[in-house]
Amino acid sequence: MKFSKLFIPTTKETPNDATLPSHQFLIRAGFISQTGAGIYDYMPLGKIVLDKIRAVVKEEMDNSGANEVQFGFVTPLSLWEESGRASTMGNELLRFKDRKNSDYVLSPTNEEAVVNMVRNRITSYKDLPVNLYQIYTKFRDEARPRFGLMRGREFLMKDAYSFHSSAEDLVREFNLMEETYKNVYTRLGLKFRVVAADSGAIGGSGSKEFHVLADSGEDTIVVCDSCDYGANIEAATRKAVKKEKLETIALEKIETPNKKTIDEVSNFLKIDAHYSMKAVIKRAIYENKNEIVIFFVRGTDELEETKACNAIGALELDEAFEDDIKAAGLCAGYCGIIDLPKNIKVIVDKELEGENNLVCGANEENYHLKGVDLNSLELTYADLVAVQEGDNCPCCDGKLSYTKGIEAGHIFQLGTKYSKAMNANFLDSNGKAQPFVMGCYGIGVSRLVAAVIEQNHDEKGCIWTKETAPFMVDIIVSNSKKEDEALAGDQIYSELKAAGVEVILDDRINARFGFKMSDFELIGFPYAIVIGKRLAEGFVELVDRKTLEKTDIKIEEIVPEVLKLLK
Ligand code: ATP
Ligand code: MG
Repeated sequence: MKFSKLFIPTTKETPNDATLPSHQFLIRAGFISQTGAGIYDYMPLGKIVLDKIRAVVKEEMDNSGANEVQFGFVTPLSLWEESGRASTMGNELLRFKDRKNSDYVLSPTNEEAVVNMVRNRITSYKDLPVNLYQIYTKFRDEARPRFGLMRGREFLMKDAYSFHSSAEDLVREFNLMEETYKNVYTRLGLKFRVVAADSGAIGGSGSKEFHVLADSGEDTIVVCDSCDYGANIEAATRKAVKKEKLETIALEKIETPNKKTIDEVSNFLKIDAHYSMKAVIKRAIYENKNEIVIFFVRGTDELEETKACNAIGALELDEAFEDDIKAAGLCAGYCGIIDLPKNIKVIVDKELEGENNLVCGANEENYHLKGVDLNSLELTYADLVAVQEGDNCPCCDGKLSYTKGIEAGHIFQLGTKYSKAMNANFLDSNGKAQPFVMGCYGIGVSRLVAAVIEQNHDEKGCIWTKETAPFMVDIIVSNSKKEDEALAGDQIYSELKAAGVEVILDDRINARFGFKMSDFELIGFPYAIVIGKRLAEGFVELVDRKTLEKTDIKIEEIVPEVLKLLK
């Protein structure tokens, strides 16, 4: 391909809202163009990269035996009413009416559509398992679309759905998908980590996420320094933090004037904050109601909101404002576990179960309680804490630490949630009707375009990996007006092309060398061959984009040298 013939509008201008390198460089290098909030067009280079990633995903999915299909981007809302998600998906589900006043949605995911495709078509266990996938546009009306392709509203996802006659067979496919995904990210040249994950609104039991490791990642991943354990902080667990058990003492109310925080109270009472309880008051949002809920964790711990939501089946947690807290009969800063208003939902972290001699608020301004014994109370316990760095691994003696990741894929063991809700059954070997056991598997194809750059860039621009680069080699003719340089460029271009190398020839007549070079650095092709001042002596220059190292190479050796590098 000739640079002069390809629409590559590079620019020095960075969009105001672009904070991440991938967002800045993909726009500046002419890969993508924004048309609306979270909506991007792919220009020629962007389209090439997107298609390359898509091709790797497709090849690996096909190798795993999955079948490619395509669902309508638009689905009737009635399917979503059948599954119950019309009401649980909230505002991310973009709904609209057609001219006949019928309700539709833009597909954010396709569990409903695939169940509708399979039910009454697969009727016997003999026709199972099957795994159907597509690589197609999704729309989620994200509250905060941002970071360019990383969190769009319209984006490209590979979504796959498998159907099984047993839970064991689902686990087999789930493991196969894990291997398939690892092949995808490895082939794309990415450093990644597979971690245990929260299953979120989609439901079901086991789930794993695939994170591309990058400092800019939105997700906090907890990893062990001595074993394979890894989990999204939303799902991470630890060995319980244990300290010496204290003697049981009588319950006592003590004045703690103006002492509200855990630090203030434990300093004032000269106790270890480990033996105190922290009340986190939140407004829980459910499908069609909301309420004030109190979560109790150890004074030294923090609440993990996803775990907290799961514990009470809420969709999300909002801040509880002072007025809300007062109206609920609670006393901010002095909230404790004893003598709470009867109607309030209370959940206690499971590491506190069995503890005695604790300090907590007295539900009265300026007072706390000492000697609180949880054994004497009837309470609901759940895992609520955010694992902290330095905590002990749940699997070995190692220490846990944080790293940042970009969620590039997520696989779920769904079970029968959707098949039951939508009445999708098969006949088992005894002729009995059973709901399909399902799995679902997503890869963020367009997010991967950005993730490659988050992991591989420098201050000058993108550095594409070999599987994702729009072209492998950029032949830069320093001065295209000079006939000998132009001819040498054409010659190397033809030879590389004939050898099957994806090569682009920067033949722009009116672009200066410095401009061509900075475009090369910004766009991030893996190699450049510069035809310039030493051509007369029979040399060209090979530039490695990653290291920016330059090597003079004899012109007759450049093609074999490049072929060696690309092997
Ligand atoms: P996130 O937690 O980042 O919102 P999710 O859990 O909602 O993602 P899934 O429903 O598991 O995402 O979707 C599968 C994959 O699709 C994700 O792993 C991610 O790579 C990609 N993806 C999800 N939302 C977006 C988005 N708004 N823009 C781009 N890619 C996305
Ligand atoms: Mg997810």
